[in-house]
Amino acid sequence: MPPPLEGGVEGLRVVEHFHSLQGEGFHAGRSALFIRLAGCNVRCSWCDTKHSWAAAAHPLCSAEELVEAVRRSSPAMVVITGGEPLEQNLDRLCTALAPLNVPRHLETSGVEPLSGAFEWITLSPKRHREPRRQLLACCHELKVVVHGHEDLHFAHTMAAACVAAGGNRPHLCLQPGEGSTAAVELATNHVLKHRQWRLSLQTHKWLGLR
Ligand code: SF4
Repeated sequence: MPPPLEGGVEGLRVVEHFHSLQGEGFHAGRSALFIRLAGCNVRCSWCDTKHSWAAAAHPLCSAEELVEAVRRSSPAMVVITGGEPLEQNLDRLCTALAPLNVPRHLETSGVEPLSGAFEWITLSPKRHREPRRQLLACCHELKVVVHGHEDLHFAHTMAAACVAAGGNRPHLCLQPGEGSTAAVELATNHVLKHRQWRLSLQTHKWLGLR
């Protein structure tokens, strides 16, 4: 359960919330209110949000404050990301967001149990911490970061695992690791040869957006 705020109101550890464009994946280019939750024990070496890892370093925020941020921005979607957002229970936040009728998206590595209710789940699994079957079964998008050939093999293994888990067949995205032209070449060539995959690029970084 989320830790209590002073006064007994539940809250979530939040790194930041901001209105921007979704930069990557299936919904790239769309208006999104991002809620970046604190805490991640997955510890990827290439992580670009390492400042989010230590949950206790970030303030508690009430669900009502986050709902108000979404209401003010009137985005096409609210994206709950991290860190690993499922390290905190998302039931209360999702319940509070539901009356706004703004689709709730989740970006997760899939290593923690699902909480909350979402219209869209992006599963971004990591080779060193494989995801739970529960997340393989319910994701709408599978996004694998590519650094080398072994990541392509892992991507196909995860796509097959999604099917084996009995859920929807998710949209399949390969995303080159940041700053690596070799990874761009690898992922691009793979998409050319395997049409079920699409390339995901971090367009917000090119545009200087958050
Ligand atoms: Fe960073 Fe995401 Fe890996 Fe956590 S799961 S270490 S937030 S890239």
